[in-house]
Amino acid sequence: MSTIYAAPRIAEPQPNTPRGQHTPTHAWRLGATSVVWLSSLAVTAFWVQGGGVQALLGLDAEALASLARITGLVSANLLLLQVLLMARVPLFERGFGRSGITRMHRLTGIWSFSLLLAHTVLIIIMAYALQDGTNLVVEAWQVLWNYPGVAAAALGVACLVLVMATSARRARRRLRYESWHLLHLYAYLGVALAIPHMLLTGNDFVSNPLATTYWWSLWALAAGCVVAFRLVLPQWRSRRHALRVSEVVADGNRGVTVRMHGQNMHLLRARAGQHFVWRFLDGPGWSRGHPFSLSAAPTANGLQISARVVGDGTQRLLQLRPGTRVLVEGPYGRVTNEQRSTPHLLMFGAGAGVAPLVALLEEAQFVPGDAVLVTRERMPEEQMLNEAIGRLVAERGLVHYALNGRRALVGSSWLPAQYAGWQGVDLVRHLAPQRTGGQLSECDVYVCGPTEWMTALRTDLREAGVPKERIHAEFFTTDHA
Ligand SMILES: Cc1cc2nc3c(=O)[nH]c(=O)nc-3n(C[C@H](O)[C@H](O)[C@H](O)COP(=O)(O)OP(=O)(O)OC[C@H]3O[C@@H](n4cnc5c(N)ncnc54)[C@H](O)[C@@H]3O)c2cc1C
Repeated sequence: MSTIYAAPRIAEPQPNTPRGQHTPTHAWRLGATSVVWLSSLAVTAFWVQGGGVQALLGLDAEALASLARITGLVSANLLLLQVLLMARVPLFERGFGRSGITRMHRLTGIWSFSLLLAHTVLIIIMAYALQDGTNLVVEAWQVLWNYPGVAAAALGVACLVLVMATSARRARRRLRYESWHLLHLYAYLGVALAIPHMLLTGNDFVSNPLATTYWWSLWALAAGCVVAFRLVLPQWRSRRHALRVSEVVADGNRGVTVRMHGQNMHLLRARAGQHFVWRFLDGPGWSRGHPFSLSAAPTANGLQISARVVGDGTQRLLQLRPGTRVLVEGPYGRVTNEQRSTPHLLMFGAGAGVAPLVALLEEAQFVPGDAVLVTRERMPEEQMLNEAIGRLVAERGLVHYALNGRRALVGSSWLPAQYAGWQGVDLVRHLAPQRTGGQLSECDVYVCGPTEWMTALRTDLREAGVPKERIHAEFFTTDHA
């Protein structure tokens, strides 16, 4: 194991006061969770008030209609939550974090779609039962044309079917990210087409002006959030900070670091560990945004990112010229130093995953020897941010272990082959800052790298005694949930 450690040069170490004890994360989470539950309760209340429960007891066509109504209402409410979750509303970003949002987006997507299908089938069977059964296809056709807004809703369902089909993991793997993302935008069209029929035909709305007002207001709010947080705010912020590329340098033999300067950067309130969606105005194709984490602690007049070159978008970074204007969406993510609750730090970064960790270390307070960074690369030449790591070692007393080499075929899969003899759990304990005495429950652990690698590592960390809430993981993919 190659170890790089140098005695600290700073005479007086910074006081080691862990941050985050007063973090309002719990309050944000409580607020975000309350919105989810209260909105679900509200639609259920409309259904109960409209006689939904009594209708169920009849076990007839009315009961089917009632079931159709509640499945439709809950499905629509989950669709609304999906739109809100993707609108980058600060309440949800801070309450659930990006990983939590990704997981919820997937889960609510599956549930809302399943309930939508149940709603459609129930409506058709109800119509069939009411007409004393002629022909299911004929009934479906009549429902489509005889009720206002239903034809548009059917088109909306078709859009959502397309989105769901292309989001299945196997289909998604075959699609380019850009194509998948473009198809995913059809979900907004699907929702816009599907919702109005509820207000035009739904019992719970036609006879209840309060419900109608609530529903319209909520959807107007969701649409407003999308426009405000995804379009207007990023534009306004980008203009305010006038961010431009100042320097582009190769980083390791497969990476690139881009430095940018701007004005009034403190107003962005970016923290190390966070990411932005970046758009560089360097010609056609600029509108495709890519998420990259900050790879250095943000300063009063600049930001820095570091990327591994894996495709067109990252290749393009290498060709950026100083002076290129930059549009930013963010900052996002809550894997920051605020999550920390102990004085000891253990960090694991593989490949580009080292980027947010270096930024976190630059910003973090720790006494020499009490922060450990473990990096993982196939070849040492691929190591990114070498200089910054060296500086942290020399000036702040960071302990750095480089676990390089090909993946081990036996044992813990996060280890390189040359450490295959180690049990992952033992190695984790061995790497922890000495002052913890191997007590990993007293350590904050930050993890960032490929999803599979992180999963294997997290299993060993948990087994080694790191409490779940002390493992802070940043995912570089949007399909890890
Ligand atoms: C929160 C977050 C932070 C990230 N931080 C970093 C970082 O600091 N350094 C770094 O090197 N990489 C980071 N990434 C990954 C980086 O965004 C992708 O590697 C990059 O977008 C690939 O683009 P490409 O066109 O070069 O490659 P492609 O060949 O187009 O894509 C390679 C892979 O990247 C994913 N990807 C492509 N475009 C996007 C996009 N717009 N949004 C999300 N995923 C995309 C795709 O799933 C694909 O599998 C981060 C990703 C996320 C989600």
